Amino acid sequence: MEAKYNGDSSWLLSLPASVSKSRGSVPGNFFQVSATGMAWGDLRFSWPSFSSSRRLSSSSSSSSCNVAQRRSVPELYEGIAKFYDNSSAVWEDMWGEHMHHGYYDSEGSSSQNDHLLAQIAMIENSLAFAQVPDSKEERPAHVVDVGCGIGGSARYLAQKYEAKVSAITLSPVQAARGNVITASQGLSNLVTLQVANALKQPFEDGTFDLVWSMESGEHMPDKQQFVGELARVAAPGGRIIIVTWCHRNFELGETCLKPKEQELLDKICDAYYLPAWCSPLDYVELLKTLKLEDIKYADWSKNVTPFWPAVVASALSFRGLIKLATSGWTTIRGALAMALMVQGYQVGLIKFAIITARKPL
Ligand code: SAH
Repeated sequence: MEAKYNGDSSWLLSLPASVSKSRGSVPGNFFQVSATGMAWGDLRFSWPSFSSSRRLSSSSSSSSCNVAQRRSVPELYEGIAKFYDNSSAVWEDMWGEHMHHGYYDSEGSSSQNDHLLAQIAMIENSLAFAQVPDSKEERPAHVVDVGCGIGGSARYLAQKYEAKVSAITLSPVQAARGNVITASQGLSNLVTLQVANALKQPFEDGTFDLVWSMESGEHMPDKQQFVGELARVAAPGGRIIIVTWCHRNFELGETCLKPKEQELLDKICDAYYLPAWCSPLDYVELLKTLKLEDIKYADWSKNVTPFWPAVVASALSFRGLIKLATSGWTTIRGALAMALMVQGYQVGLIKFAIITARKPL
């Protein structure tokens, strides 16, 4: 079977000639597959949708817009846990321990084709943006990795700063796998992964010098509670780093996304178990309510442009297709939705943002 990206968020899968011939009169030997459904000749059907009329309880900007909460909060948490339980091994096999975008320098830089280097560059650029000190006296000694995947960032930060790192994920498979990798790298004395909810963290107030959330904020159903927890567990003077998917900031006078934009985000929400999105400026406003200092953000969308096409290419490799075929429906749907992410970036709807702040001393 061959797969080709159509450029309109769908894939054309062609059957080998021998298969289509042996089937006699069939609608055609091309399947068109997208994150919303499938077509074979004139036959069409849609994947099940999760739309409901529930509204986002805590979004500042979306309550008056046509933004439906796609799943109840318990359904969302269960979906996130299962999604990562099922897909993490496929990702690790293809991409390694970092489950986040790479940061690519301007055209022609050496990291354009070295995606692991680009993922490390994402971590280093985030630390630099937040002005996390490197010196032995000032560097962070206690770090929390909120939404840690299999602990790629947690181990990196532990080694860089010789820091103790507590890492949390909703996925029991990720926590177990992350602890195995941590032990194999001799880091169990510094890094521990556990299953816990970012919105109700099992940590004392004021514990961590660095609060790190790399591409987990987009999963949080209550952004206010999310940043509230990040600020609560930060120690006085501690830095908070949120790197996350956002929708674009609103234009002057605009209060909602356009219906077509909302439609695209809704499809991505279904595939990746995301609740309603917010903008980088929404995060800034939320952080301001917590009286944090040095609040700033940047749009790094341009710096991550090469990432999704590279992930798509690896999914379409022979090994990628085999892995996907055996990984279950939620992983396959997630892979198909990559095309929607590419589209979202291309039309300027999806923004890859870093937002940082500091808890006052
Ligand atoms: N930060 C990691 C993984 C990003 S994938 C990395 O860069 O490699 C998103 C992660 O967020 C997953 O591990 C998922 O389990 C976690 N997550 C999503 N919602 C969460 C929640 N409410 N509480 C804790 N973790 C959550």
